[in-house]
Amino acid sequence: MSLDAVLARLDADLDAATARLFELLRIPSISTDPAFTPDVRRAADWLCADLAGIGFQAAVHDTTGHPMVVGHHDGPGPHLLFYGHYDVQPVDPLSLWDRDPFDPELQETPKGRVIRARGAADDKGQLMTFLEACRAIKAETGTLPCKITVFLEGEEESGSPSLVPYLKAHGDALRADLALICDTGLFAEGVPAIVTQLRGLLGEEMTITGPRIDLHSGMYGGMAINPIRVLTRILGGLHDDQGRVQVPGFYDGVEEISDDLAAQWAGLGFDADGFLGDVGLSVPAGETDRTPLELLWSRPTAEINGIWGGYTGAGFKTVLPSEAHAKVSFRLVAGQDPFKLREAFRAWVTAQLPEDCTIAWKDHGASPASRMDISHPAFAIARASLSQEWPGEAAFIGGGGSIPVAGHFKEILGMDSLLAGFGKDDDAIHSPNEKYDLDSFHRGMRAWARILTGIAES
Ligand SMILES: [Zn+2]
Repeated sequence: MSLDAVLARLDADLDAATARLFELLRIPSISTDPAFTPDVRRAADWLCADLAGIGFQAAVHDTTGHPMVVGHHDGPGPHLLFYGHYDVQPVDPLSLWDRDPFDPELQETPKGRVIRARGAADDKGQLMTFLEACRAIKAETGTLPCKITVFLEGEEESGSPSLVPYLKAHGDALRADLALICDTGLFAEGVPAIVTQLRGLLGEEMTITGPRIDLHSGMYGGMAINPIRVLTRILGGLHDDQGRVQVPGFYDGVEEISDDLAAQWAGLGFDADGFLGDVGLSVPAGETDRTPLELLWSRPTAEINGIWGGYTGAGFKTVLPSEAHAKVSFRLVAGQDPFKLREAFRAWVTAQLPEDCTIAWKDHGASPASRMDISHPAFAIARASLSQEWPGEAAFIGGGGSIPVAGHFKEILGMDSLLAGFGKDDDAIHSPNEKYDLDSFHRGMRAWARILTGIAES
């Protein structure tokens, strides 16, 4: 097939594509607020009809929450699963928007034309880049170059309660050679990126109990153990002077990144001073012998997220508290087993408890990191395709946060994900005046057309 013809069609059709996106943006599909439940369904129906119009066998599937939209299209190449979400965040506070969040508009800004509306970037504009690429390929060639399943969720912004049960029940219809996820952003202005590793998360809450009741420090101080003192002593030893986590076995299985990846990351020219400067900091606080991007993407961390106990109200109370509490979380990288680490952390803390103190634990979830197998040819094809569409060379990057759907695809369907998205830091997703650059929308659909064509030919 002629990729040039497809790209030319996407260029010529941009106004119509934008109009289609506007139709979807006009539907206030706020998943977290039950008042908008009929609108969420309307957005699902709209997408189902749009997929059918491209030639997908599409259906809206009910769940106990909001529906899933699934479309299948046959093709000669490998089977790809595309994921996006059609629900959006609430719009409050409305007074901070410069217009109705569900009345999209193309606006001229000093940085170019933007589509202004809730969901423009997260994730309706992004998911439509893929559908527009499919539409143009289908119109030019009469078919699609790969077997494609489109899977669109309506609960991503409200914690995806139906996602795991749905994947478990309907895995056979969704399992593919690779998932494509379009819900991320560019690395920097003009520099596209593919997220190939995401850190996992382990959350722990601890309560150390000493005396049976709160005590008066004048009467008991000097004799009675203070559990806050115990807790701070133990947690104070969580890192050494070089920033290394001291829980035994914490770094077991952690691998170094490849030389090729290290070179790509170095080539990104990450501005660590600016990154810290934006939040009023100047000195990296993690392991001292690591680069900033390693600290953010490929090294595990331990953080004390909250610590409380005793009296913290107005005035003063000379209490010797009965209990001390902390919440501690760990960002994990590939090779670390979250369940083993939970045991190791609990054992490390417990071993340091003095006599007369007991500890109780509450677990706040454990999810492993994911690292994609970038030897799959689609990754190199996607990297080359993105590099052709944007001025900067695309890189394989890490994500410091987590994108749960990628982990679920891996765990439940045994499928890696290629995460490519075209959002920008100033898109204000989840905030008032969300926008998506028309340029991102346009280049995004061209990039998918290149990627699909490239994968089919590989
Ligand atoms: Zn999103």
